[in-house]
Amino acid sequence: MPMPSVTVVGGGLAGCEAAYQLARRGIAVLLVEQKPLRRTPAQTTDHLAELVCSNSLRGAALVNAVGLLKEELRRAGSLVLSVADHAKVPARGALAVDREVFAAEITRRLKEIPHVELRAEIVREIPAASRERPVILATGPLTGTELADDLARTVGADHLAYYDAIAPIVAADSIDTERVFRQSRWGKGGVDPLDPDLPRDALALGDEAYVNCPFDEAGYRAFVAAIVAAAKVEARPFEDARYFEGCLPVEVMAERGELTLAFGPMKPVGLTDPRTGRRPFAVVQLRAEDAARTAYNLVGFQTRMTWPEQKRVFCMIPGLEACEILRYGSVHRNTFVDAPAILDEALMLRAREHVYLAGQITGVEGYVESAASGFLCGIMLAQRVSGRAVTPPPEGTALGGILTHVRRKQPRYQPSNITWACLPPHANRRLKKRDRYQALAERALRLLDPWIEATRADLV
Ligand SMILES: Cc1cc2nc3c(=O)[nH]c(=O)nc-3n(C[C@H](O)[C@H](O)[C@H](O)COP(=O)(O)OP(=O)(O)OC[C@H]3O[C@@H](n4cnc5c(N)ncnc54)[C@H](O)[C@@H]3O)c2cc1C
Repeated sequence: MPMPSVTVVGGGLAGCEAAYQLARRGIAVLLVEQKPLRRTPAQTTDHLAELVCSNSLRGAALVNAVGLLKEELRRAGSLVLSVADHAKVPARGALAVDREVFAAEITRRLKEIPHVELRAEIVREIPAASRERPVILATGPLTGTELADDLARTVGADHLAYYDAIAPIVAADSIDTERVFRQSRWGKGGVDPLDPDLPRDALALGDEAYVNCPFDEAGYRAFVAAIVAAAKVEARPFEDARYFEGCLPVEVMAERGELTLAFGPMKPVGLTDPRTGRRPFAVVQLRAEDAARTAYNLVGFQTRMTWPEQKRVFCMIPGLEACEILRYGSVHRNTFVDAPAILDEALMLRAREHVYLAGQITGVEGYVESAASGFLCGIMLAQRVSGRAVTPPPEGTALGGILTHVRRKQPRYQPSNITWACLPPHANRRLKKRDRYQALAERALRLLDPWIEATRADLV
């Protein structure tokens, strides 16, 4: 049987990493990139793997989930991490790179591999795919419109978004349990919301999984005024503000009128604060992000406020005065699919056999996460085309956490960076946060080593 050859569309972080992992395993790759024929509105150079904004790959320490992800990629032989280390510039606790050196070196290393062919082409529809010629789409957050429309036709328009509207996530153990209450609308309530002994399947309780942060009238009015006054991230010229009414940024609602939020995501109907016996004037509802309830999402609080302003304004929420924000809210132009609904365990489209997705288009967020997604897609596809069982990394690793995120069914799937909530929690909840993260990182690296060893067997 001839060795399969894979077409990778998109020479960004995910596409380059996937191409490299396939090539390392002896699989021929055709890497198709639209540059220099066309650039996305965010691109300014014709290199592969362009970093379109910051030159930082974020925190380097293992007590950061993204620091752990980078260390795992480094150990597992990632192209992006190897080149990032090569192109590194001083950046205190972060890994930052000289973006020119970084992109030029990725391009050089890929060009050096004899069985990687680079082709400049604007791909307008999903290329024909077969068992011998699978396709990976890694065209990123600004995927060309014609290709995105073809993808929408393939997976169903409901399963492809052109914008994300992300609400922040806070760490459960940074919520002041004295000030909040768990209760479903019209329900019973009175349970300690952050009790670590709650059954792990408690999320199945649906509405019961909400934690309510109650506002009095004065607090609510001050909060709305702070949202309206806060500095916002400017929309880019290509991000015309076409929001869906169902997921408006919180500041857009606040600007419509002082009471709009109180009749929208902050409505208190059906809720009684067990401490006062009364309905609060308004509430912010928090929904558990993971089954172990280590993190909570601020329901309906997608926002363009800048990160420092989010920190300041969200600390005005009763119970969140000292909250640790694990993921900040944002609103971006971002093409991504409802990955948990439409991808199989190896990131293949259920609706179109032999077509795989990688990178930000799967709903991961960030340079490192996109590279990790390309890495995983490349390795799992190499296993599949070689007729071997697909062996994903263990759940307790950050690489496993990337897969957990893209497989975790949510009421409204939204892109996410890697956070500790993507990994199973540490058994000892009483450890101090830093020690707990350190222990999670050590556990992850212990779990990863045998998996790396097994994946090395494929290398040529
Ligand atoms: C404006 C903006 C700013 C960002 N800032 C940051 C940041 O500071 N930090 C961070 O971590 N993340 C940032 N991101 C997210 C960042 O884009 C992703 O994290 C990462 O680059 C995605 O990697 P990817 O490989 O999935 O896509 P990309 O890196 O975007 O690569 C996709 C590639 O596919 C090509 N392509 C697209 N359509 C076609 C087509 N039809 N035919 C052929 N080729 C095509 C593109 O030219 C591109 O080279 C930002 C995103 C945007 C849009």
